[in-house]
Amino acid sequence: MTINQQILLDNRPTAEARADNFRLASVEVPPLRDGEVLVRHHYLSLDPYMRGRMNDSKSYAAAQPLGEVMGGGTVGEVVESRAPRYQVGDTVAGMGGWQEYSVVDTSQPGVLRKVDTTQVPLSYYLGAVGMPGVTAWYGLVRICEPQAGQTMVVSAATGAVGSAFAALSKARKCSTVGIAGGPDKCRYATEELGFDACIDYKQHADAGALSRALRAACPDGIDGYFENVGGMVLDAVLPRMKTFGRIAVCGMISGYDGASIPLANPQLILISRLKIQGFIVGEHMQDWPAALKELSGLVAQGSLRPRESVALGLAAAPEAFLGLLRGRNFGKQLVKLI
Ligand code: NDP
Repeated sequence: MTINQQILLDNRPTAEARADNFRLASVEVPPLRDGEVLVRHHYLSLDPYMRGRMNDSKSYAAAQPLGEVMGGGTVGEVVESRAPRYQVGDTVAGMGGWQEYSVVDTSQPGVLRKVDTTQVPLSYYLGAVGMPGVTAWYGLVRICEPQAGQTMVVSAATGAVGSAFAALSKARKCSTVGIAGGPDKCRYATEELGFDACIDYKQHADAGALSRALRAACPDGIDGYFENVGGMVLDAVLPRMKTFGRIAVCGMISGYDGASIPLANPQLILISRLKIQGFIVGEHMQDWPAALKELSGLVAQGSLRPRESVALGLAAAPEAFLGLLRGRNFGKQLVKLI
């Protein structure tokens, strides 16, 4: 008999998310049916989008049902199989959720994919060579449309998406500037992630001061901006955008806990004839193979080796998740389960 520890969404937040929105539960793993495999999760991915799913309000992702296992990406190994395509010991990535094991019906297309760990560490399939990496690729390549010599800027620069953005942008010979919170993250951005410059937004009291720092780092202006944060950061970037610049709206994390994030000068969109486009990476599956191929190549050649923040044990997931929402993670936030 195998016992599976799970974390369920117990109740919805009324303002900031809290640890007591979640509940730990234990259940027995049921016997497998034909076509199913049992996956033991090695790592669980924690991602900002999960905050939106905790609410039952208009969002691009369906609300997480109460009393059910929190959804989320996982990587692990097949420990039992009644599906001919999977052998015990196969390393796999899927959407196993906040639990130690998942039973996967492999007859459903795309629910599980085998991953090769000879050149890419298993955990990277949740970050640099997973959904966050593809997110960076899509926003950069399809929306920011980088050309060699242009200037690309990204906020939340040292996180899962931002770190992949740096490698992809440098591979296209763009001047690449990050915006991140704190001197340690900024040093890491330039010394290890390959950013040409990184601006610590916490050193700047308002959007005007941050905008002046951006002007110094991007003297020719900004051709492409990849937005992860919103609020003051977006207000600081807009005046620095070049005419016909492109903005990929990927995330607005500064508003995820319910704070309102008004835009101070929307007229700049017209004045600079900007293209601003939001996107959800899961709606662009046709681009995933090319993106994953490039990202795994960058990892294999050593130009994309981002840090990870690793919490230990399933019970640590809620606090680690709350930390991610408050910028306490340093690199891709994971929970190690084994
Ligand atoms: P990160 O690993 O970057 O972690 C989140 C980071 O956001 C924090 O570490 C923090 O970094 C930064 N941040 C900036 N401002 C704030 C603020 N006011 N409050 C809290 N944190 C802040 O996360 P990901 O790389 O996984 O995701 C980055 C963004 O991409 C998110 O907005 C996410 O929602 C979005 N996303 C969108 C997808 C899509 O399909 N559209 C898919 C995947 C992700 P710092 O300390 O530097 O401020």
